[in-house]
Amino acid sequence: MERRLTLVPTPIGNLADITLRALETLRQAEVIACEDTRHSAKLLRHYGIETPLVRLDQHTMNRAGRLLDEHSRIAYVSDAGTPGISDPGAELVRQALERGFTVEALPGPTAFVPALVASGLPTARFVFEGFLPGGGRSRRERLEALGREGRTVVLYESPHRLQKTLADLVEVYGPEHRLALARELSKKHEEIWRGTLAEALERFRQPRGEFVLVLAPRPRAAAAPQPDAAELSRRLRRQGLSGRRLAEALEQAGLSRNQAREWAYRKED
Ligand code: SAM
Repeated sequence: MERRLTLVPTPIGNLADITLRALETLRQAEVIACEDTRHSAKLLRHYGIETPLVRLDQHTMNRAGRLLDEHSRIAYVSDAGTPGISDPGAELVRQALERGFTVEALPGPTAFVPALVASGLPTARFVFEGFLPGGGRSRRERLEALGREGRTVVLYESPHRLQKTLADLVEVYGPEHRLALARELSKKHEEIWRGTLAEALERFRQPRGEFVLVLAPRPRAAAAPQPDAAELSRRLRRQGLSGRRLAEALEQAGLSRNQAREWAYRKED
């Protein structure tokens, strides 16, 4: 008998955004594995689906083997959108393939596609970065890599980290770089905002809701980022940096060593 794991995308805000095939799959599965049983139960109740739910999130993925051994028709849903996109799913797929399961993934809701296609920015080539690491070296490295990226970039971000991420992106791209911010897609307060990084910092001082950032591609000819040296050194001075520490920070932000020294030791006007 064929054993089958189906990844089922679920709405990212509007309960009507679910396909007929997704509902049929959830109805016919032996079991639905999900990140949060209480959260997914609301969706099932709404559509009158009675298939049992079991929890399988990033903290309980060690139960995946047992689930796969005990069932032959399994559906997997994350809290919202497509499982495996900045959500658990990949590990379950790996283990299912190892056990000879047929793995299928239904097309359906995900946040980055509507954000990208409504952004007004080029869509032919893009890179999906998901969430940037929270801090430290890995975040710095990923940001530096973005500085060399020539395609449209899509990022996920939580509201409480949005300002920090926008500020870091200013260092990489410069304050005038264009982006779109897709907020609360498919929900009551949906908004697709378009402008520069500097304007975004101003506009989203107290961000609320869920965000996708879509950054314009850097023009092909542009080499290293050219931050606005005057604005950058003013901002770093306000943060208390001066002398050698200011020069180092300016250099890290993309100025040449000479430029960095010049701005660091220049008398404030
Ligand atoms: N699996 C989901 C998908 O397919 O898009 C992503 C889950 S990830 C844990 C959650 C992030 O997705 C949020 O922090 C936000 O960046 C983005 N997101 C999810 N729903 C959204 C919405 N309705 N509007 C804007 N962004 C959303």
